[in-house]
Amino acid sequence: MASLETVVEPILARYRRDPTALLQILRETQEALDWLAPETRQFIARELQIPLTRVEAVTQFYAHLYDQPRGKFRVLFSDNITDRMAGSVALMEHMLKRLKLSRGVVSIDGLVSVDTTSCTGMCDQGPALLVNNRAVPKLTPRRVDEICDLILTGAPLADWPAHYFEVEDNIRRADMLLGAPFKPGEAIRAAIALGPLGVLGEMRKSNLRGRGGAGFTTAVKWEACRNAPETERQGTERVVVCNADEGEPGTFKDRVLLQSFSERVFEGMAIAAYAISARKGFLYLRGEYFYLLAPLEARLADMRRENLLGAGICGVETFDFDIEIHLGAGAYICGEETALIESLEGKPGRPRIRPPFPVTHGYLGHPTVVNNVETLCKATEVVIRGGADYAGHGTRESTGTKILSISGDCERPGLYEYPFGVRILQILADCGAHDAMAVQVSGAAGTCLSRQEFGRRIAFEDVATAGSFMVFGRDRDLFDAVRNFAHFFEHESCGFCTPCRVGTALVARIVDKIAEGHGARYEFNELARLHEILRRMSHCGLGQTATSALHNIMHKFPAVFERRLISKDFEPGFDLDASLEKAREIAGREDSSAHLGVEA
Ligand code: SF4
Repeated sequence: MASLETVVEPILARYRRDPTALLQILRETQEALDWLAPETRQFIARELQIPLTRVEAVTQFYAHLYDQPRGKFRVLFSDNITDRMAGSVALMEHMLKRLKLSRGVVSIDGLVSVDTTSCTGMCDQGPALLVNNRAVPKLTPRRVDEICDLILTGAPLADWPAHYFEVEDNIRRADMLLGAPFKPGEAIRAAIALGPLGVLGEMRKSNLRGRGGAGFTTAVKWEACRNAPETERQGTERVVVCNADEGEPGTFKDRVLLQSFSERVFEGMAIAAYAISARKGFLYLRGEYFYLLAPLEARLADMRRENLLGAGICGVETFDFDIEIHLGAGAYICGEETALIESLEGKPGRPRIRPPFPVTHGYLGHPTVVNNVETLCKATEVVIRGGADYAGHGTRESTGTKILSISGDCERPGLYEYPFGVRILQILADCGAHDAMAVQVSGAAGTCLSRQEFGRRIAFEDVATAGSFMVFGRDRDLFDAVRNFAHFFEHESCGFCTPCRVGTALVARIVDKIAEGHGARYEFNELARLHEILRRMSHCGLGQTATSALHNIMHKFPAVFERRLISKDFEPGFDLDASLEKAREIAGREDSSAHLGVEA
């Protein structure tokens, strides 16, 4: 068996023993050794000359880094609500039964472990699972049986049928972006023709707003970064980051853009770099999209060969720019831009205190632009069409088009690109959602719309969204979504601030208590109180929006809760007397005074 040094040394060398690459080093080491044993963590800390506590902190922060042994085959079922609606729970139970396993426990022979993970971004073709980081969509009982057979025979993934891993784009409606032809280099050359200030001018005219959800004006962000003052310590270096950590439950548009429109994504990054004078770029790819890494690397290599990346791009001497891909490791919070930057620097992905903002103090203190995948694709449109033409589409405050990831109870799940301003009703008709009772827009952190609101429009000035659009039919119980979201946020809270760390855990406990039939009016009121605490006192958007859907459902669909609440004011969630049984046993007591509520 290869020594630790033989395995880890080449990885350390490839990352130049740079502690800011710690997450990448740990991830790659784990790929080679299956898990991060104590001696592996110590070795890496020693070789990078960093405290062991830093290695431990990073290992423990990311859900897909393991400090305990795992199975050779690591199966993770997507636990998003749409996967559950499509039958993922029964399929996982079926697999556990076939493999004679308990959830989260490695088989005695070390062959396999089965567990759940948050949304895998395959909601249009769920239920889905990840096996050793590879996505397997469109699961059926038969496919699960076949996978069990392959696992039990120890067949390496390379020998599994290739069609298991096929991920479809499912583009159902294409418009300005998804429907337009694109020649490699077209956008970069258009930007060069405009010059950096010309690019910024067109971006201003276009009024392009960020597609990650917040809707900040892209030109303002780029200008602020370009104009960030030089610092003695950091010099003039600027950085462009593409946020491809698409983790919002129900969202999968970036998956398609990265799979089939990657030249747009990378050219968008190059245009941003040209406008702000950056030489360095990162694409932060969520770990669940590991299967996209090789094709994206190949695309980057093509672009370097074609002089669309590297030194003197397209013959412009002063235009040097290149891109590195960093993989995440299962932390939803890294979609928040400052958490993402922390992660890029090899740390746990905890949101920073702002100000200062990344445009002046971002990656390693350098002025940094962080843009969503879709925003960068839209930037290529702006330089090709011109800002004024672009602004002629959509609405006044929300120009251009928006790509929606549609899943749930509809006949045609997939990607739909619409001009901003489209009504929910129109979208539901197009995707074949004939009996929709509710739509959860913008993921677990978004808004739950009732039928009365289906006349509203997708736009920053009405229903703003990062793209997730989950449909719930008339027969669904929205409490399942409430419970799923509550556990999602409890799991994904980074733990930095108390309102979110404790609040999300309390919400999950209370929702469970209601689900188990012990919820009374007290619990309902307590959820409303926690919603206010989380919303007003959490440090970042995760905590602030963790109970948005819950709050919406409590008010728009009161029956979802009312039919579950018992008529008492309060009931304990557990049997206190029964829980003292062990203490009675140890004390050798069985007399009546050793029991609660029994008169001596
Ligand atoms: Fe972390 Fe939650 Fe606080 Fe955000 S709100 S910093 S996710 S604990």
